[in-house]
Amino acid sequence: MNLPLGIKPLDITSFTNAHGNFTQALKPGASFDLTVSDPGFERQYPSFKDKYNQTTENFQWLIQHAIDNNLRLRPMGSGWSLSKVAVCPDGIVNTKKLRLKASLGSSQLSEEYLNSGDPFNLLFAQCGNSMISINELLEQERNPPKSLRASGGSNGQTIVGALSTNTHGAAFKFGSLSEFVLGMHIVTGPDRHVWIERASRPVTSAKFQEWIKAEVILDDDIFNSALISFGSFGFIHSVLIEVEPKFLLEQQLTQIAYDGNLEKAITDYDFSGLAHVLNYPLAVANEKLYHFELAINPHNFEKNNPDKGVYFRVMYKEPYREDYERIEPQTQGYTYGDDVLGLIQKVLDQVEVLPGNMLDGLVIPNAVNTLFNLAYNRPEKAIGTVGETFRNTIFRGKLYSGAFAFDRKDMPKVIDIVLGNNRNIPFAGVMAMRFVKGNKATLGFTRFENSCVLEMDGVDAKVNYNFSEKLVDVLEAHNISYTVHWGKNNNVLNKERVRRIYGDAVDKWLGHRNQLLSASAQAVFNNEFLEQCGLDQPGKILLT
Ligand SMILES: Cc1cc2nc3c(=O)[nH]c(=O)nc-3n(C[C@H](O)[C@H](O)[C@H](O)COP(=O)(O)OP(=O)(O)OC[C@H]3O[C@@H](n4cnc5c(N)ncnc54)[C@H](O)[C@@H]3O)c2cc1C
Repeated sequence: MNLPLGIKPLDITSFTNAHGNFTQALKPGASFDLTVSDPGFERQYPSFKDKYNQTTENFQWLIQHAIDNNLRLRPMGSGWSLSKVAVCPDGIVNTKKLRLKASLGSSQLSEEYLNSGDPFNLLFAQCGNSMISINELLEQERNPPKSLRASGGSNGQTIVGALSTNTHGAAFKFGSLSEFVLGMHIVTGPDRHVWIERASRPVTSAKFQEWIKAEVILDDDIFNSALISFGSFGFIHSVLIEVEPKFLLEQQLTQIAYDGNLEKAITDYDFSGLAHVLNYPLAVANEKLYHFELAINPHNFEKNNPDKGVYFRVMYKEPYREDYERIEPQTQGYTYGDDVLGLIQKVLDQVEVLPGNMLDGLVIPNAVNTLFNLAYNRPEKAIGTVGETFRNTIFRGKLYSGAFAFDRKDMPKVIDIVLGNNRNIPFAGVMAMRFVKGNKATLGFTRFENSCVLEMDGVDAKVNYNFSEKLVDVLEAHNISYTVHWGKNNNVLNKERVRRIYGDAVDKWLGHRNQLLSASAQAVFNNEFLEQCGLDQPGKILLT
């Protein structure tokens, strides 16, 4: 096969995701690697613009190739997703080597942006840039230095891979990663590629748009649909993101009782009852608070009992200064090791085969207590930049990680339901609640204005899949609105549930997909995950 410069065959016949939850068989000869840094490519396309525009053509070539050969393709970032959102039975396209990034000059920006924003707060990045490399560029090389406005707990994802599944941290006043995206360049077909911005916030000028050679779409609704589209709207070649002056996050981790005071913080962000715990006087704390998270060990929990309470983890946002004690990477914690997970996995697998599963009730809590202590055995106080704070990328062993989002007001009920469920099917892991400002993405999973994400991390054992299935049944029986993370273990999702959760937004998303991609291009980007969720059908084009 004669491949254009910049596209290379990716010689694999299967793909196993980072946490080893699944292995996807792939068609031989159907996967590809994209690059902008091979010597031959560099020689032929010496300038940034040449490299960039040729890569757009390479994406188009791949879509045409897939149509001609009746193949499905999925763009892949770091392959961290625990669901099968980044794979299909034919081929994957590795985007990790697409790492061009640049600032934009004033002439490339709209009047509107120049009147309200700072050009130095923008970064134009190709899809394959990792969160790590973006943090390094912003915090260490940019002058003046900058920070990402939000991050997940770890940072090995690619920028586009991360935002495509609605990756979030606990930035309860800012939101998930998708919130800092102002523009997207998407290759939607063999002869079409689009630059999308919100009509309500135009950022680039005609000069930039000519440079990128794309059809320009200024539309809030289409932007919101494409923003969280998990590889289904074509290849997202690049994004334009907004950053801010470099800042520090001062962490505080302490164990407190789950009581009425904490419940007020959960349901209303009213921290007044916790004033005695906070590092600052209430008014100052309210101003500085950036990150709000709680961790629960479901096997050692009792309301109003500080010894069986929750870990309260907050971060205060501070202006950057040089004189602070850097976080030691090895003391950051929350990195499960092979030994603990491997051991628990082994124990649980044994438990599964015992007649009557009788040991679950004893073994699982003990195992979790060990895990929990390991995970939270870290300094109470730490200070660092976004890049220094969210940087755990080491993970070993199979892991189950599921996340459901709720309206924060429903959390007291949800906690009771989760604990009730845990009495019947003990969850082999730990739980956290991370509070995130909601987004407007059409299929955003942090869609509640004040979202609380319940994270459940544990061993990759059947018992945890059963736990989440049962949990969803009970939530539905109690009529509690919930959503499910697109990139984590989400076996509970099916066509009916996606429809029940997102309602008419599904039609909007499908309609916009149909508006941007021809039927043959949609077929290229369909996969089993979209079929499972009922998102593979062409929707009705909506007039906007
Ligand atoms: C150790 C670990 C920690 C995690 N921590 C968090 C966390 O704190 N918060 C959280 O919310 N999630 C977290 N996750 C989940 C993770 O952030 C998401 O699954 C994320 O989407 C993975 O990014 P990735 O680069 O690996 O993308 P992939 O898993 O490779 O892909 C994700 C999706 O993006 C699409 N995609 C990738 N590149 C492109 C492109 N160029 N164009 C179009 N579509 C594209 C893929 O097709 C796929 O649908 C964690 C996962 C792990 C393994």
